[in-house]
Amino acid sequence: MPVAKRFQPFGVTIFTEITNLAQQHDAINLGQGFPNWDGPDFIKQAAARSLEGGRDQYPASPGIRELREAIARRYGPLLGRDLDPDTEITVTTGCTEALAATFLGLIDPGDEVVLIEPFYDAYPVDAALAGAVTRAVTLRPPDFRLDPEMLAAAVTDQTKAILVNTPHNPTGRVFDADELATIARLCRQHDVIAICDEVYEWMTYDTELPRLARLPGMGERTITLSSLGKTYSLTGWKVGWAIAPPGLTGGIRAAHQFLTFTTPTPVQYGAVAALEAPAHYYTELRSSYQERRDLLVDGLERVGLRPFRPDGTYFVMADHTAFGFEDDRSFCRHLIEKCGVAAIPPSVFYSDPVDGASLVRFSFSRDAATLQEAVERLSRL
Ligand code: PMP
Ligand code: GLN
Repeated sequence: MPVAKRFQPFGVTIFTEITNLAQQHDAINLGQGFPNWDGPDFIKQAAARSLEGGRDQYPASPGIRELREAIARRYGPLLGRDLDPDTEITVTTGCTEALAATFLGLIDPGDEVVLIEPFYDAYPVDAALAGAVTRAVTLRPPDFRLDPEMLAAAVTDQTKAILVNTPHNPTGRVFDADELATIARLCRQHDVIAICDEVYEWMTYDTELPRLARLPGMGERTITLSSLGKTYSLTGWKVGWAIAPPGLTGGIRAAHQFLTFTTPTPVQYGAVAALEAPAHYYTELRSSYQERRDLLVDGLERVGLRPFRPDGTYFVMADHTAFGFEDDRSFCRHLIEKCGVAAIPPSVFYSDPVDGASLVRFSFSRDAATLQEAVERLSRL
């Protein structure tokens, strides 16, 4: 049976492709972003208690009340307004589902959506499933700043939404106050929704994350998405959430109830414990990622790549052109086969693959010894 036409253009995700190749060649996998250590015990124990306590039936579709309340308590101060767990918070199966529910529940066929590229691979697929017309604004090295004129040219009266991912995968940019002010001004001017994917919200280095939802007039038009995976080193648990004013939450929930209806109960109870983590949990997460960032970035520089030191996420982009390969795919193939290190060719994150051909994405979501070994292997370059 052929795959349905709506999915044919997208093939197999680059993360699956590279992880499989890494396994075949016994390469150190710095491609797909996931920590190579386990998540915290206090979260796992909370989920285990829920399993043992016999809460085995469907929870409420928007998520268990305890988790919606915990999300409201945690994000109210961060987003600068009181959040109502009944009407403004929806628990989803990872941020992946929150993205899909947002597109399918709020975007009509023919609506325009502005994407900032390089973009996370699910965005154009969700847009296509919703029948949206996408317009891309490209971030370019070395600083990957958002160009206000390009953005203004992409946002029109047909625009329904703009998707902002900050901290940004794959560039590691944390959009600053000026960039967010430009986005907010255009959203207000053209009555546009901002979909803010903040899954790397606690991975910022020497900078705090400015939140779009806090800017004047943005609380009423911003959907803030996040999940458990990155912040708590639990990428396999797939608990996410969408925080949005009641009018927008209605659309998200309309889709969510038919995509998954709900998210497994035990991991929702685990998530309650996660969201109540003490402040030092986040300080330690940041400082340990910052050390690993510096270890990898310094190592990439030593082997002759040109990395762009990221302010956020657990990814670093680097320019590989000093080595004379034709494009990012051929460079990544060589890395896996000849050096034993896997990385992501980022051209898949652009509407025109040529824009990513000179770059390669590495993840530092690995322990220090693994990163050191990877750098040693890369010196074979
Ligand atoms: N958005 C971005 C930018 C991501 O990098 C990822 C995941 N890796 C996701 C969303 C998906 O998050 P989740 O695993 O919670 O579905
Ligand atoms: N978000 C992770 C990354 O960018 C991968 C997620 C996935 O495999 N779908 O590497």
